Amino acid sequence: MPERIIFATGNEDKMREIRMILADLKVLVVSLREAGITAEIEENGTSFEENAVIKAKAIMELTGEAVMADDSGLQIDYLDGAPGIYSARFMGEDTSYDVKNAALLEKLEGVPEERRTARFVCAIACALPDGRILTSRGTMEGRIGYEIRGENGFGYDPIFFLPECGCTSAEISAEKKNELSHRGKALRSMREKLEELAEGILQKES
Ligand code: IMP
Repeated sequence: MPERIIFATGNEDKMREIRMILADLKVLVVSLREAGITAEIEENGTSFEENAVIKAKAIMELTGEAVMADDSGLQIDYLDGAPGIYSARFMGEDTSYDVKNAALLEKLEGVPEERRTARFVCAIACALPDGRILTSRGTMEGRIGYEIRGENGFGYDPIFFLPECGCTSAEISAEKKNELSHRGKALRSMREKLEELAEGILQKES
């Protein structure tokens, strides 16, 4: 039986990215659903880090296994950092991203390019069965575009313009997004911390 880490998310889009980023590790990364866990954890923290720690700790205490969790979102400077930690809940969890993205574009109507700065943020927490908690953070800087563009990615990707690519994060490949993304950066940093602090939990493929 290989070592495994439960990744505390029910979001299959995120799981797809996470599996790709951690693909070179000899560790089985399983989602909550795959681990057979149905617990609903309330994200009542006031920062991305706090929410990630709350989720990872709660599931680690429930299972006794190593658990990673992330909390991520979009910060738009013109909107004082909104939707931020409320990105998933913005306008309601069940509202489609076509509607959410159109609403954000409308809020920024007439706002010049230099004031459309935004970033995706991702905090990752890993709760180890011995009680240690590790955290990492990654960001991806960009701007809010003027229209919905692209079919790749998920969530707010179609309105997130990446100046260095000349297109939105919904128009780049999954590989390119993982290289640049907040989640990719935070996960790679977490992987390094785990390798340093908990050798034996993660074993790189030889
Ligand atoms: P969480 O599940 O509470 O971390 O919610 C994160 C929310 O932020 C997602 O549901 C998306 O709305 C948004 N988000 C986070 N990362 C991304 C991304 O890579 N692309 C687009 N939207 C994202």
